[in-house]
Amino acid sequence: MSHLGFHPPYLQAPQQVPPYPQVPQPVVPTVQVPQPVVPVSRPVVSIVPVTQHVGPIVSVACPVAAVVQVPNQSQLTQPLYCGQASAPTTLIPWNPKSTKSFKGVKGQELAENAETAKPKMSDPFNPTLPGYSSTSYKSEIVMEPPQYIKNAHNRPVGRAENIKTANMRGLTGEDAQEALIGYVAEECCYGSKAARMMEIKDIQSSSALHYTLETFTESRSTKWQFEPYKGGFIDGPHNGPAPAPWDISCEYPNLFENAVRKKEIPHTAHVMICHVCFGEGFNRCWNCVGHGKVKCGKCKGSGQTQETKDGQTQRVKCSSCQGNGRKRCTQCGGNGCVKCEGCEGYGKIRQYIQLIVYFENHVADHIVERTAMPTHLIRNVDGELIFQHTADRVQPIQGFNDHEINTKSSELVRSHNWENNRIWKQRHKIRSVPVYECRFSYKDKGGRFWVYGKQRSVFTNDYPHTCCCCKCVIL
Ligand SMILES: [Zn+2]
Ligand SMILES: [Zn+2]
Ligand SMILES: [Zn+2]
Repeated sequence: MSHLGFHPPYLQAPQQVPPYPQVPQPVVPTVQVPQPVVPVSRPVVSIVPVTQHVGPIVSVACPVAAVVQVPNQSQLTQPLYCGQASAPTTLIPWNPKSTKSFKGVKGQELAENAETAKPKMSDPFNPTLPGYSSTSYKSEIVMEPPQYIKNAHNRPVGRAENIKTANMRGLTGEDAQEALIGYVAEECCYGSKAARMMEIKDIQSSSALHYTLETFTESRSTKWQFEPYKGGFIDGPHNGPAPAPWDISCEYPNLFENAVRKKEIPHTAHVMICHVCFGEGFNRCWNCVGHGKVKCGKCKGSGQTQETKDGQTQRVKCSSCQGNGRKRCTQCGGNGCVKCEGCEGYGKIRQYIQLIVYFENHVADHIVERTAMPTHLIRNVDGELIFQHTADRVQPIQGFNDHEINTKSSELVRSHNWENNRIWKQRHKIRSVPVYECRFSYKDKGGRFWVYGKQRSVFTNDYPHTCCCCKCVIL
């Protein structure tokens, strides 16, 4: 095989089931690939555009023999065509019925039944294009924004001002009791009697403060992608150099909302021979390794099963395979080859670089709540918006009458530095959430509950009337 100067992975690892037959002496057709002189105006790329349609390496139309010819490396790394003029308008995919049987070298092992693991499809060769040399098939590569984008608005603009005073409504004892009765009705293990009969002794009102900082950013990654080529226009390097990742326009749908946009980078496409099937459109069946038949699962290939009749054990013909020991492979229908998944039978793939644009809203917050109720509960209830400011970069809040808010605002604004991102906008706000700490007495016991948020949510640990198996405390 070494005379080809190219070793497909399966030729180097004979212990693995090859995705493709080993051909004793493959004949590579001597297709003269014309090497066009690249004009100065064209981008000099490592993949040289071939302007002439080379055509398939071997014909798969032969109905009996599917003899496979392994192309050499240059045929797998050079595009077949890049321009519209030379690309065929329609291609016909390989059809399983067009090949009667697989005539290549078959594998050693027969699968027991149709449960053999399907092999994972490999990626094509990794082409390199100017400006995109790090882009690969393996994983997304983050493309750093150019300096002029990083420098834009990197200093705070816009001052925090006009923080309102919250308009607190009072809470009467009846209001508190009503909120508690509503809460108890929704809790399966709380009885309502205590809520109805208790006496509200005292209500302390206060305001929790919820500060939120949002930073809306954009980041861009690239990744090579391929898809079956079914004919049509190819926007390849012959149309000009590929634009830089941050020069491609992509607008965000809504400020402060996460979104992902995917785009094909112009002038990066080209058509290649499929790297999975080498242009054939089909591969040897992975389940029966080309035999078209698999070992019968019922008789384990012996063709016979045991049967006990009138206390005597007999060997009888297997009913599943009629004594053959083998059954037709369900994956390939018996012809030993399956349609290639890489090219969906077309024999050719179109490679291109995909730009993936992430719009992300990064949110950080801080809650100031000084009663004994759990602080995090404030996050999910309604309050009054007493301050909001949106700017390219916000200035930390200073001089607010709650010092903790000033300190946290500075900390969070400083921490919202998103490397390798474009920062579009920042927004920060303060919500004031009413909190009422209520003391009650019921029978000879006392306790506390909290009514908080505009919707008057309730929190309590001391409710005196629980009747569930988990907390059997019935007063
Ligand atoms: Zn098969
Ligand atoms: Zn059988
Ligand atoms: Zn293929």
